[in-house]
Amino acid sequence: MQKQSINAENYYDYICVIDFEATCEEGNQLEFTHEIIEFPIVLLNTQTLEIEDTFQQYVKPEINPQLSDFCINLTGISQELVDQADEFPKVLRSAIDWMKQKELGSRYSYAILTDGSWDMSKFLNIQCRVNRLRYPTFAKKWINIRKSYGNFYKIPRNQTKLSTMLEKLGMDYDGRPHSGLDDSKNIARIAIRMLQDGCELRVNEKLHDGQLMTVPSSVPIGGAPVPQMPGFR
Ligand code: AMP
Ligand code: MG
Ligand code: MG
Repeated sequence: MQKQSINAENYYDYICVIDFEATCEEGNQLEFTHEIIEFPIVLLNTQTLEIEDTFQQYVKPEINPQLSDFCINLTGISQELVDQADEFPKVLRSAIDWMKQKELGSRYSYAILTDGSWDMSKFLNIQCRVNRLRYPTFAKKWINIRKSYGNFYKIPRNQTKLSTMLEKLGMDYDGRPHSGLDDSKNIARIAIRMLQDGCELRVNEKLHDGQLMTVPSSVPIGGAPVPQMPGFR
């Protein structure tokens, strides 16, 4: 099926779907310091509506290097995988290099897309503080697909869990839920369907001084290239 009504001239060339997995304990305690343990990126071409490439690296956590059984069961990520992985600063650098190789932010315009606000406003934000890294520019604004989905299909926000969004579109989850890469691919499948249905997925959230903020839909974000380069700033 082709896209219905997106003005291709004025739209992102690519959407990068990112769904982090993080250390966790049962009950989701508020004070727990989540550390990113999987960093996936799914590169969606908004013209062909195909997933062109993927990036995936596991990350070795530093504060809680031993994964809880709950976390291993939830994410399917083993202790060996994180033991053998690089620490976050190196993985972030690899992710940014990969985006540069793909000419994102230079030759091609793009937007980041996540399932909810937490990937950037919580997981990446906390991780950068833990590692004393400046928050990366490429992740300062993004499309929160839950918000876009709720607005477009007129669905209440409490019904925009990943599994529910898929179900309402008549799709089954493909792969292993809570694997970061599989989650990202399934989020991309929803994004593809929304673009086919004529939804102009646009940046709708941002981090400003560490605070989560809404980007009003009336603000035009389009125009290529998006004025940002992947990297620290
Ligand atoms: P998700 O993208 O839904 O797989 O969730 C991202 C991260 O949130 C996971 O890697 C966990 O760190 C945390 N998380 C998700 N669901 C739960 C849960 N039910 N209990 C505790 N932590 C969770
Ligand atoms: Mg997620
Ligand atoms: Mg996930």
